[in-house]
Amino acid sequence: MALRLDGRQLAAELENRLRSVISQGLGRAGRPPGLAVLRVGDDSASGVYVANKAKACARVGLHSRVQHFRADSAPAELLAAITALNRDPAVDGILLQLPLPTGLEEAPLLAAIDPAKDADGLHTLNLGRLLKGEPGPRSCTPAGVMALLARHGIEASGRRAVVVGRSILVGQPMALMLQAADATVSVAHSRTRELAALTRQAEILVVAAGRPRLLGAEHVSPAAVVVDVGIHRTAGGLCGDVRFEEVEPLASAITPVPGGVGPMTVTMLLVNTVVSWWQRTEAEAGGQGSLDHPLADLLP
Ligand code: NAP
Repeated sequence: MALRLDGRQLAAELENRLRSVISQGLGRAGRPPGLAVLRVGDDSASGVYVANKAKACARVGLHSRVQHFRADSAPAELLAAITALNRDPAVDGILLQLPLPTGLEEAPLLAAIDPAKDADGLHTLNLGRLLKGEPGPRSCTPAGVMALLARHGIEASGRRAVVVGRSILVGQPMALMLQAADATVSVAHSRTRELAALTRQAEILVVAAGRPRLLGAEHVSPAAVVVDVGIHRTAGGLCGDVRFEEVEPLASAITPVPGGVGPMTVTMLLVNTVVSWWQRTEAEAGGQGSLDHPLADLLP
């Protein structure tokens, strides 16, 4: 029976740690960390995600505010809102909830977010920092996967890792983080031939293809660690990109869906925001402008 990589449990542990970091810095900062979430349109899944993020902020002691825009909002209106948040001293993190409604381009809006307040770690500058191994906010989902592996003592160093998916949101930063942890990494995508032959080489297999139940027993070698990033609402309930019931008996460790990667994504959003708050308020208090902070082990 595979070890369950329980994201809910680790998220709860990290929330305790965040509460303690906030109480440590509150005296100096004089205010709690602040996260602003921009939601555009009425996509119901996005509505649930935004509500979950606001609840997590409240549990940990971050001040969150959600700005909800109509689906037909002009890009200029969204840019103006981002500019105002960039200037707002009480805002440490800004999150643009994706996907945006059809017709609105993500790239110029993500680029307008102050990189120091980039709660999702998706700004070009921060992706470049990840590529170069420089500190900065990290993409939440892959950083959450790395935290789950570390928490369960799963070493990436020297191991063969395969990432299925090459999106900027998940697959690409995941591959970079595994490589930074000294894994030997391959990335598969929709044009990959003989996917099963490749994924069977993986000692650590991360699946972020966005295809319900794409991978099964034939894709997994015995004792592999399997991380399922996918999440899909189907008539039969929530499922991932992995056929859990087939893969669990083979794997040495596996993430459940739900309760695996999802809760970690939300927690890492809080981590990025609390780190930004720590650094910004330390600089305001006349500190050395040091990049040091007490959560460095969580930003790979
Ligand atoms: P995405 O932008 O649609 O990217 C999917 C990637 O998978 C693409 O690179 C695509 O290849 C590749 N792919 C698609 N079909 C494939 C196939 N048959 N074989 C191999 N590769 C294939 O999706 P995403 O944003 O990365 O998200 C992936 C999944 O994770 C989704 O289910 C999403 O809902 C979920 N997600 C979960 C969380 C969480 O917190 N749990 C967070 C973010 C995303 P091409 O590049 O060739 O098109």
